Amino acid sequence: MNKRLMILGSAILILASCNCKQTVSDKYEIEPHSHAKPNQAVITHLDLDINVDFEKEIIKGKATYKIENNDSKQIILDSKYLDIEKVEADGVATDFTLSTPDEVLGSALVINIMKNTKTISVYYNTTDKTEALQWLKPEQTADKTSPFLFTQGQAILTRTWIPIQDSPQIRVTYNATVKVPNNLMAVMSAENPKEKSADGVYNFSMKQKISPYLIAIAIGDIEYKAVSERTGVYAEKSMIEKAHYEFADMEKMVLAAEGLYGKYDWDQFDVIVLPPSFPFGGMENPRLTFATPTVIAGDRSLTSLIAHELAHSWSGNLVTNSTWDDFWMNEGFTVYFETRIMESLYGKDRANMLALIGRQDLAEQVESFKNNPEDTKLKLSLEGRNPDDGMNSIAYDKGYLFLRTLEETVGREKFDVFLKSYFKKHAFSTITTEKFIKYLNKNLLEPNKIDFNTEEWVYKPGVPSNASVIKSDKFKDVSSYIAEFSKTSVVNTEIVKDWTTQEWVYFVRNFPKNFTKEQMSTLDKSYDLTNSGNSYIAMVWYEQSINFDYRGNDVDAKIKEFLTRVGRRWYVSTLFKAYKTNDKVEEALEIYKESRSNYHSVTANTIDDILGYSK
Ligand SMILES: [Zn+2]
Repeated sequence: MNKRLMILGSAILILASCNCKQTVSDKYEIEPHSHAKPNQAVITHLDLDINVDFEKEIIKGKATYKIENNDSKQIILDSKYLDIEKVEADGVATDFTLSTPDEVLGSALVINIMKNTKTISVYYNTTDKTEALQWLKPEQTADKTSPFLFTQGQAILTRTWIPIQDSPQIRVTYNATVKVPNNLMAVMSAENPKEKSADGVYNFSMKQKISPYLIAIAIGDIEYKAVSERTGVYAEKSMIEKAHYEFADMEKMVLAAEGLYGKYDWDQFDVIVLPPSFPFGGMENPRLTFATPTVIAGDRSLTSLIAHELAHSWSGNLVTNSTWDDFWMNEGFTVYFETRIMESLYGKDRANMLALIGRQDLAEQVESFKNNPEDTKLKLSLEGRNPDDGMNSIAYDKGYLFLRTLEETVGREKFDVFLKSYFKKHAFSTITTEKFIKYLNKNLLEPNKIDFNTEEWVYKPGVPSNASVIKSDKFKDVSSYIAEFSKTSVVNTEIVKDWTTQEWVYFVRNFPKNFTKEQMSTLDKSYDLTNSGNSYIAMVWYEQSINFDYRGNDVDAKIKEFLTRVGRRWYVSTLFKAYKTNDKVEEALEIYKESRSNYHSVTANTIDDILGYSK
């Protein structure tokens, strides 16, 4: 059965079995990426009781939900690749069915309930197909002594480790009891332990209502070090001091964010530094951001990532996109907020460099979508597709540019008052693009009598012509050096002395088309870019090495080592794309065959697509 038919099939089933014509509410939007029918019966609280078995690499346990039933005889959860053992309603066994699995959405777990059912419990095991979990062997960690496990729930992967109504519109509080091997510590997107327990049992509580994609767990031989009373880092032993040094400004960042848009609502803001196969730069799991170790540059130069994840405590976690078609509402606002935090801590120069790099990413993204311009709209229609397809520079950087243009049009003062009240008004709720536009018109544009092409920004492809122009004097100097060097091949050691990571990245990314291998070699001899300890600079240098077919300084071996160690999707996909555009797919596949097993499923899926790889 194809996806569309299957969804329709279960909808008919529910309507036929539900005596609720008059009472069905329309509180929840139609959500193309969840089987759940929350207007009929919805979960409100989760009690999770699980045992984590590193030998068998499965999680086994029970998920109990408090539910609100709108007179329905069934409640539907999402479940993908889970082995469901039994289901209870108020502690008594009840019937359930699992629909034929859809490749993207998984199965509808349809559970029979009574009108007055208060709780349901699902007994289940994860399987080896589970996409959210990445089980790591000791050799894949920093310390190389103990195994590690982490989850990645966004966008629709939580259903692969917990049966749940997996739509961002659903919000639940949760408690969890987690049993892990004695030498390991478990942490979640919840109130967390700061020390290991003697018996390997950990209890968690998340008192604020969050969307299911934000339920997360990490387990490993980790420790905690506080940065301030409400901020700190978790990491493996060999990483803890480095992480603590790198993120020393965490408290300052929280204060700056609060100064902009109101109180931090989640009490604690910690970061866990994960092993390098973590697929994202960071994931804004509430109270505990998950981060890649590739942001640890030793000089605090990549900490805008922390500002970004912190900003999600407002845009994303507090005010959440209703569906994945509204994903720009999470990310565009967050990039805007992140840039403002960076500006208030480190000044306009730094903020504009970051913004200009994003602007360049956006131009490249728009160009790469020239054959499917629909995907360059802010509001997407991802029905029938994997929501991961929308996780690209459009949501982030076009979203940012829209808000920056808006800010410049109305003036910062008014815009800040508006944003602050927007977060306050919609706290702990979800929002569609349409609701936002209404709110924007009513509270900012109409009262100030401002005409703005919001509809064009949101519903039309490409970048509107009134987009604000981002300028950076620092990058102007970099550009002059590039122009001079490409003419003369004379290296300047003085100019680069105080360069930040952003200047290096801008420099390397903007080599002109007629640049030569010899010029790459000259630069490498002076700056040793092939061996850069800064993963961002290394990544863009490797990209250019592939583009310009530069093979000196053992760069091929370095690229291979990088792609085998690091699983951050952005980095890895940039390099594999470069191989592809330069007709070097065979070379890429040689590496990929070895590196793939080190990648989380979200990275592997993306690279499979790029290289046309099938297992
Ligand atoms: Zn983000």
